[in-house]
Amino acid sequence: MSDAVSRALHEKALQVMPGGVNSPVRAFQSVGGSPVYIQSASGPWLKGADGRRYVDYIGSWGPMILGHARAEVVEAICEAAQQSSSFGAPTQGEVALAEKIRDFVPSMQMVRLTSSGTEAVMGALRVARGYTGRDLVVKCIGAYHGGADYLLVKAGSGAATLGAPDSAGVPKAIASTTSLVHYNDIEGIQQLFKARGRDVAAVIVEPVAGNMGCVAPELAWLEELRSLTEEYDSLLVFDEVMTGFRVARGGAQERFGLTPDLTCLGKILGGGLPVGAYGGRRDVMSMVAPSGPVYQAGTLSGNPLAVAAGIRTLELLDEEGFYERLESCAQTVASILAEASKRSSAQVQIQRVGAMLTAFFSPEPVRSWREADRCDRDAFGRWHRSMLERGVYWPPSQFEAAFPSITHEGPCLEVTEQAAREAFAAL
Ligand code: PLP
Repeated sequence: MSDAVSRALHEKALQVMPGGVNSPVRAFQSVGGSPVYIQSASGPWLKGADGRRYVDYIGSWGPMILGHARAEVVEAICEAAQQSSSFGAPTQGEVALAEKIRDFVPSMQMVRLTSSGTEAVMGALRVARGYTGRDLVVKCIGAYHGGADYLLVKAGSGAATLGAPDSAGVPKAIASTTSLVHYNDIEGIQQLFKARGRDVAAVIVEPVAGNMGCVAPELAWLEELRSLTEEYDSLLVFDEVMTGFRVARGGAQERFGLTPDLTCLGKILGGGLPVGAYGGRRDVMSMVAPSGPVYQAGTLSGNPLAVAAGIRTLELLDEEGFYERLESCAQTVASILAEASKRSSAQVQIQRVGAMLTAFFSPEPVRSWREADRCDRDAFGRWHRSMLERGVYWPPSQFEAAFPSITHEGPCLEVTEQAAREAFAAL
């Protein structure tokens, strides 16, 4: 239940913005109630519009891996702003960030910066189509890759909770350039390639699914994607907008030891400011304008504030022991939930890969959208409201991952533990 101040704000918001929000999942529609409005945040703590404190497990849907308002990042943004917030001309910072990206993710031999993950994915797939001369893109049912028309086909995340995984307004002809397979389904992808392999420009995949909730990839399936795309001269695109810098320093490709042709990044890369990037093989990326014929551009691409926040963020990720400590924070959160869930009659699967996790209200492990779709959404909604009342701001959808940060230690975990015990017991 949100507070009176938030409810009053939401009433006003509903008059001027569709659903009162600027991105659907924020409206809390799938868990009931109205959203908590946020005033400020620090470390793992959010401060609501009425001054109440919450432990934050959304982390702006991924970017805030260092916790909120980390002093060094704030300083970098302020310093950059003093030099002007945008030039629309090349800067030293962009080069430094591109070099840093290549250092973290060596398969990204060349990089193009954008202003969002959506744009990064659109750029990567346009290059894949330009490079291969083919139109067909393969994606997984329940995966979300941003708001491009041809990717809003059986998309997860907010689209799934609205019960409208296929958005209105997407022309059928455009949707028909996308083919669908289930996550972790080796036979499915083999059959698709057998039938249409020579039409496939690219397979795009979240190498750890986050937008149907957190679902680990089976290594044999990822390897099959790699080998089929090679065999049929298609490209393998890892959408690491969510997993990049999160499930390992070099993203899922480092964690699982696989090399895609192209990679998309976003979220953490901008340290909380709007940034995306796509990149990969030099021969493929050389197709991008002005080097080659694939057009893609952006007024604010490589924005100096976002670039400064990104560089400082990546530098901090490189501090001694960062990923071990992050893993331990996330592991503790997962254990707290697993232990607390034993108090409830609901069957719950806590699924985690690195610092991404989901509490699935499901009797069986979730391997794909087939199982995710069978989760008890009502029970999840009740649990979510209960956690919120007890000061824990969990993502308001069964099909989202939670994103602990490096600051999820100490008192915020005590609040989480107490809330989880009570919320599961109350189900
Ligand atoms: N790809 C993945 C895997 C995502 O999770 C998201 C957003 O949640 C996007 C792409 C789109 O990124 P953005 O919201 O920055 O446009």
